Amino acid sequence: TQFSDLNLDPKVLKAILEAGYETPTPIQAGAIPPALEGRDVLGIAQTGTGKTASFTLPMIHMLGRGRARARMPRSLVLAPTRELAAQVAANFDTYAKHTKLTKALLIGGVSFKEQDALIDKGVDVLIATPGRLLDHFERGKLLLTGVQVMVVDEADRMLDMGFIPDIERIFSLTPFTRQTLFFSATMAPEIERITNTFLSNPARIEV
Ligand code: AMP
Repeated sequence: TQFSDLNLDPKVLKAILEAGYETPTPIQAGAIPPALEGRDVLGIAQTGTGKTASFTLPMIHMLGRGRARARMPRSLVLAPTRELAAQVAANFDTYAKHTKLTKALLIGGVSFKEQDALIDKGVDVLIATPGRLLDHFERGKLLLTGVQVMVVDEADRMLDMGFIPDIERIFSLTPFTRQTLFFSATMAPEIERITNTFLSNPARIEV
């Protein structure tokens, strides 16, 4: 498979080719087609396999198809650590550079001020750690009822860090009709339980 065979939005394809990618990695070749069909995806992949693009590319494609909803984030990516969330945000900027999609990176350790300003202005995508996302929610700063695509990255690390209750809470704040792209390096029983609860007939890709 080549990237050009995946039927990605030409704007996304252009950014990938400019990034110098030629061939999708196995997780990308496995996850992108069902994600573009609108299916939920359960990706079992380690870091370094290209998994970030395997959810970021279809997410950008899907957002390009949908209609913008003023001020409401349409996509939410949860990552366990600030560093990982920042990496996802950098990837998003690379792959979305030919689109008009906007994002906010919501992580702890920095003041609320800039994040608040972005949320008030309205962004398409939130890339967040669970604690900071819930902080914003508790402060009444954001609603997740417009979320169409939700991504959970490195769920096994979320489990290790005690974030599973936060993740469940955040899932419950998003619409039941959302598309969910869920990634974990391993499938612990607790992770299996979460996926059984919150994913709907997912395409399961293990690399
Ligand atoms: P990740 O597993 O998402 O952390 O990605 C690992 C590294 O592989 C990152 O530096 C990506 O930029 C790079 N990468 C992802 N997909 C591809 C691809 N299809 N071809 C070449 N490099 C890639």
